[in-house]
Amino acid sequence: MRPNSLHAADLAHLVHQQTDLGAHEAEGAILIARGNGVRVTDTEGREYIEAMAGLWCASLGFSERRLAEAAYKQMLALPYYHTFFQKGHEPSVRLAEKLAAIAPEGLGHVLFQCSGSEANDAAIKLIWYYNNIRGKPGKKKLIGRVRGYHGNTVATASLSGQPHMQADFDLPLGERFLHISNPNYYRFGQEGESEEQFSARMAAELEALIEREGGETIAALFAEPVQGGGGAITPPRGYFDLIQPILRRHDILLVADEVICGFGRTGNLWGCETYGMRPDMLVSAKQLTASYQPLSALLISDPIHAALMEGSRKHGSFGHGFTYGGHPVACAVGLETLAIYEERDIIGHVRAVSPVFLEGLGAMREHPLVGDVRGVGLIAGVELVADKEAKAPFPPAAKVGLLVQEKCQAAGLIVRAIGDRIAFTPPLIITAEEIGEMCGRFRAGLDAAW
Ligand code: PLP
Repeated sequence: MRPNSLHAADLAHLVHQQTDLGAHEAEGAILIARGNGVRVTDTEGREYIEAMAGLWCASLGFSERRLAEAAYKQMLALPYYHTFFQKGHEPSVRLAEKLAAIAPEGLGHVLFQCSGSEANDAAIKLIWYYNNIRGKPGKKKLIGRVRGYHGNTVATASLSGQPHMQADFDLPLGERFLHISNPNYYRFGQEGESEEQFSARMAAELEALIEREGGETIAALFAEPVQGGGGAITPPRGYFDLIQPILRRHDILLVADEVICGFGRTGNLWGCETYGMRPDMLVSAKQLTASYQPLSALLISDPIHAALMEGSRKHGSFGHGFTYGGHPVACAVGLETLAIYEERDIIGHVRAVSPVFLEGLGAMREHPLVGDVRGVGLIAGVELVADKEAKAPFPPAAKVGLLVQEKCQAAGLIVRAIGDRIAFTPPLIITAEEIGEMCGRFRAGLDAAW
């Protein structure tokens, strides 16, 4: 490596996030220089199909000029303003109005933050606030799911079921965070158990936990419609239909974490629609701005909003907010993103290409390394196994997922290994032809790893 090169400066100074820092030190990083459609090119001139849309987020690919122009126009008109102290600006009002119009029923109030983590963190604070204001101060525990992912703040990493994000960070914090099992039917379904029976067992486990802890102590369940960071795990049939009545019976809120699923990823505007979820709060981010600007939106119901009004009367103000929450440039980009989704019928496009995507990846089931392929819309997970018949996983130390990821990279494809699960969430604009190319490169990566 040349001294004073970009890669040398990277190694010397930049702490990469969610990274094996030892491997980074030994091998360096791929530094991406530019993008075009679903492709990105690194500083060495190598081109990749970005089958993860960055971090499940660049829905309109990497070269949408309209979003750059919307940002520029807003920067010239009003580059910054906030929504504190009875002030505000048009882009945040218009985007809130738009989101309320397209939100699942009953979620007509919007709080803007910058990231998915912040929006989930805000959801946690608001839930505690809501229960204090409505005279239920003992109702504070939150339920997450093993391998669920809700963010990186102290509270959201506690709620997530990702051990590597908790170990040595002194998390989970306190007694308020509970977890139920991971709903991966392929991996955890028992011998002879149908998918529906597995869902019923998951629901019974939830109810048993609530009864053990006391329903009066539990405030909310957080769930991603499709678990992303857990390995692109689609819920087993009937799962949310069985879980929601239990929550309602115990006066427990449902928070849908749509940070990945929101805005068309599952073939509907919301993952909630795909799986019949009726949440009390909805967390969105990523595809809200196609990730050209950092922005998240927490959508809340009327009763929760009423508690904020009451709390504000009690304390003199609603005591929550971020300097950059609802940044005008991000909101302008969000408005333009939603306009593009509608004009180009992005959801119709996702539905049209989804069979090509799911069948193309589904064909990998024949590969000796592949145990399961699952997905919906334009999100899929491929589970690698040592023994297909026995569904036996590889020993973690073998790092087979990482090997496949590396071989895919060499074949010009960026995918994400989550243990031995390979996740795919390409930009929503991907064409059938590009999907064919993506699958070809994936097969080459699998073959090279075999
Ligand atoms: N929730 C889900 C479901 C996510 O997938 C992510 C990030 O991938 C987050 C929350 C955290 O979002 P952010 O990285 O914007 O803080």
